[in-house]
Amino acid sequence: WSSRDFPWTKKLEADNKKVFGNPSFRPNQREVINATMSGYDVFVLMPTGGGKSLTYQLPALICPGITLVISPLVSLIQDQIMHLLQVNIPAAYLSSNMEWTEQQEILRELNSDVCKYKFLYVTPEKVAKSDVLLRHLESLHTRESLARIVIDEAHCVSQWGHDFRPDYQGLGILKQKFPTVPVLALTATATMSVKEDVVQALGLANCIIFRQSFNRPNLRYSVIPKTKKCLEDIDNFIKKFHFDQCGIIYCLSRMDCERVAEKLQEYGHKAAFYHGSMEGAQRANIQKQWSKDEINIICATVAFGMGINKPDVRFVIHHSLPKSIEGYHQECGRAGRDGLPSSCVLYYSYSDYIRVKHMISQGTVDQNSFGSGYGRSNVAASGRILETNVENLLRMVSYCENDVDCRRLLQLIHFGEKFESANCRKTCDNCSKIQKCIEKDVTEVAKQLVELVKMTGQKFSSAHVLEVYRGSLSQYVKKHRHESLRLHGAGKHLAKGEASRVLRHLVTENILVEDVKKSDLYGSVSSVLKVNESKAYNLFSGAQTMRLRLPSSV
Ligand code: ADP
Ligand code: ZN
Repeated sequence: WSSRDFPWTKKLEADNKKVFGNPSFRPNQREVINATMSGYDVFVLMPTGGGKSLTYQLPALICPGITLVISPLVSLIQDQIMHLLQVNIPAAYLSSNMEWTEQQEILRELNSDVCKYKFLYVTPEKVAKSDVLLRHLESLHTRESLARIVIDEAHCVSQWGHDFRPDYQGLGILKQKFPTVPVLALTATATMSVKEDVVQALGLANCIIFRQSFNRPNLRYSVIPKTKKCLEDIDNFIKKFHFDQCGIIYCLSRMDCERVAEKLQEYGHKAAFYHGSMEGAQRANIQKQWSKDEINIICATVAFGMGINKPDVRFVIHHSLPKSIEGYHQECGRAGRDGLPSSCVLYYSYSDYIRVKHMISQGTVDQNSFGSGYGRSNVAASGRILETNVENLLRMVSYCENDVDCRRLLQLIHFGEKFESANCRKTCDNCSKIQKCIEKDVTEVAKQLVELVKMTGQKFSSAHVLEVYRGSLSQYVKKHRHESLRLHGAGKHLAKGEASRVLRHLVTENILVEDVKKSDLYGSVSSVLKVNESKAYNLFSGAQTMRLRLPSSV
């Protein structure tokens, strides 16, 4: 597909330079364009910043007819249309919150014999809910004027993904109705299972798949234990490594965003906050100031990011635990789009895990990057979706708990990619530590911890279980007479941090489960450990042993 002998090659080269001002093509762009222009269904997995838009914008320019683009977020659509209009490409969008007369006008234009638009952008719910739209598309199709269907952020189709959108599932109808119109599905995040789900739901059985490495060599990754001094640490980090540069700090809640922004302002940074419950105009204003460099640092929930095309973001800091490795990879991907070195720092504490888990089960997580409108998904996730979310979160915890293996390797494995950690060239915290590690059999410790959770009636927090295991004689321990348990102090001899590592490993392996509850009227959460009997059975029957890679200093 990289051949330059297609009938459109000359025009392609010329328009890429002339219209879009690009000196050349980026990896896979030419290949994708050639495949979709040859009439095939194409599925593109390309990391954020890879240049997906060009792969449908150039064909749209060259082919006769209209390109239909399904995109999840109105503000992203508006941003794209603005860019197209700037280079004199006529484009329109339809969304449910537009005035009816305005919608009528656009539909009328679609019906005209010489429709001026090259692009029609719509949100997925529009496809699912508007018969009028489908009828207009049919009419375009019979006039041979529906050139291509583009599905942006295609991973939203999949329930296994980190960003499932119910409206996306209805998009399969497009291939059914228009089997001869080429479909181009694009995403920046897809594991193998998500990919298969998407291909199936969209009916792209014979599609050509383009996939490139998700490794971003110019990003440096590290995970840092989150302490009470976290904000001071962030301030120091920025002043030391990224003074007066641009960055994003992802926070868990709206309150966190505001608090972090305020603190950074006190420290003298040009910071602002951004989250889902702000007015549209307010958000647009922040975005504008940020693109003009009037603001350097945005403290945001994940609602901020999509459609943010700033190439010179020099750092992405996660003030709290991200909800999945896919989400994390995508959020980090907003740094260093210009290819220059940039930092991704994650502040991790186990207690954030409990907080995020609670938010997921309550449905109070700030809605992801896009969706129909902003705001919280007030529906608590249930059943399989909740399970997937918790699993995704546990993988993230396991990533953070790992201080031995290459961060790139850990991320790329998740995308089904092979990676030699030597190629990291010490650009992650684990690779740059000069350390030896040992592999240690911790099965006995694991069993004792599980036993201890049972002995204390599955009613206590992980912190308490660890206290008892280490032999604490605190008042609280005595109050519950836990000093008289057989395993009280059984872990005394272990190196610092070893027992808690094992315990967290038991949680990420789903042998122990954090049962999270709201503990008081003020909404703080508490959590007690329970035993997952069926999983624990393997440990006690000898079917499963547990080995941990530990830095040899521990
Ligand atoms: P994605 O959607 O994959 O995250 P975009 O399509 O938004 O990426 O492109 C990211 C940035 O790269 C944009 O600023 C775009 O103008 C730029 N870009 C895309 N293709 C090229 C190219 N061939 N040469 C130079 N810049 C490009
Ligand atoms: Zn590494």
